[in-house]
Amino acid sequence: MSSLFPGLVGGSRKRVAVGFGERSLTYGGLADAAGVVARRIRRGDRVAVWATPEMETVVAVVGVLLAGAAAVPLNPRSGEKELAHIVSDSAPSLVLAAPGARLPPALGDLERVDVDAGSGAGAGAGEGVPHPELPGDAPALIVYTSGTTGPPKGAVLPRRALTRTLDALADAWQWTEADVLVHGLPLFHVHGLVLGVLGPLRRGGSVRHLGRFSTEGVTRALADGATMLFGVPTMYHRIAETLPGDPELAKALGGARLLVSGSAALPVHDHERIAAATGRRVIERYGMTETLMNTSVRADGEARAGTVGVPLPGVELRLVEEDGSEIGARDGETVGEIQVRGPNLFTEYLNRPDATAAAFTADGWFRTGDMAVREPDGYVRIVGRKATDLIKSGGYKIGAGEIENALLEHPGVREAAVTGEPDADLGERIVAWIVPADPENPPGVEELAGHVARRLAPHKRPRVVRHLAVLPRNDMGKIMKRSLTDV
Ligand code: ATP
Ligand code: MG
Repeated sequence: MSSLFPGLVGGSRKRVAVGFGERSLTYGGLADAAGVVARRIRRGDRVAVWATPEMETVVAVVGVLLAGAAAVPLNPRSGEKELAHIVSDSAPSLVLAAPGARLPPALGDLERVDVDAGSGAGAGAGEGVPHPELPGDAPALIVYTSGTTGPPKGAVLPRRALTRTLDALADAWQWTEADVLVHGLPLFHVHGLVLGVLGPLRRGGSVRHLGRFSTEGVTRALADGATMLFGVPTMYHRIAETLPGDPELAKALGGARLLVSGSAALPVHDHERIAAATGRRVIERYGMTETLMNTSVRADGEARAGTVGVPLPGVELRLVEEDGSEIGARDGETVGEIQVRGPNLFTEYLNRPDATAAAFTADGWFRTGDMAVREPDGYVRIVGRKATDLIKSGGYKIGAGEIENALLEHPGVREAAVTGEPDADLGERIVAWIVPADPENPPGVEELAGHVARRLAPHKRPRVVRHLAVLPRNDMGKIMKRSLTDV
């Protein structure tokens, strides 16, 4: 199979590949530094990477991939228990880390190798950079899921899944070597690592990482010539809140080629506010750790708020009823579970044959656990997760997402999450968890029920409203509905 990074082994060495704040590495510098890492690693091994948001993490992951090994990115903010679980589950041969990083006791006696991002400088034309020809099913990354719905599972991603998903996105987004990406996401999940780092490197373009997301950083990078921004909905929410008082940000975003959101649903209210202030519509893509990317709004397509576009090239997607029968309707109404098949999929959950078997149908479709409808033109609209976002109330199946979107349009609501709880009459009743815009004057249940009933339908109105100071979120900014219903 072709190399994962054609630009790294055959392109111009002088082009900037990666920037972090004041630091940057050219393709030549990255190839050399990653080559030094690669020579420490045995082909086929699993290698943990202490994935702090800095240059060394990029060098480490690229080095592991060049060696033909599999990288296991670790979230430095994980709890001790979770880290200990991941390390014992994935059994890496060593851990790569930035020289200054303090590693916690949970890593046990795992051998540590420090990464020197400048180590290759001046070593010459990529000499000695290994780039083995490996089969497409050789593991490239083992990424633990976000743990939004249960303990994280290690998804084994083969090299084929990376190349095929990145090339499909290049097609959908007209993504080329001329693109410069602004990136403020963590590097231990597929969004920040696969799309945000390996994506630009595969294209031969470049990525500028903000270290930590800030709207000022986004403005600066875009004003400096960056062309694309990848973010999660919490970032776009910050942007939407900041825009009214920040004409520089509006101008910078207005000049970007592509604004992309993913990892969770982008609230319609934020989408519309950004469009009104900048003239640009954020496009959404839908993916998972296990599947990499499944659908996206195309760069030359219509960016419609609340939709995640169409299946990417090579991805087969269907909606199914609970009995497994396929839903043919494209009526924007009939809700089914999304199942996908294609070269973008993981091969298995590490050490979890039971979970792997349960995740696939007999004919090889992956059950995403996400529920959606299809619009007449084929666009997919996600209504929520089967486990936490589908409320069965009064004989209806109701998706939490549209109620959350409606609630967010109420001026008294800053953040909203909707869940179901048992109800003697209705089966389940709709509960709205609200962070009020003004804590002194939070909107009550009658007010919000009326607001939702007018916008959607009476049976979609919340019966209970609970006020919170903040919503529980994980490191990707995803709302942890499990912790809401556990309280
Ligand atoms: P876990 O599987 O451990 O519970 P997780 O599912 O949150 O955690 P990820 O693989 O990081 O872990 O996230 C994938 C999920 O994120 C998808 O299944 C979907 O529910 C959600 N998601 C991703 N992109 C979008 C999007 N554009 N709109 C709505 N939901 C999205
Ligand atoms: Mg999941």
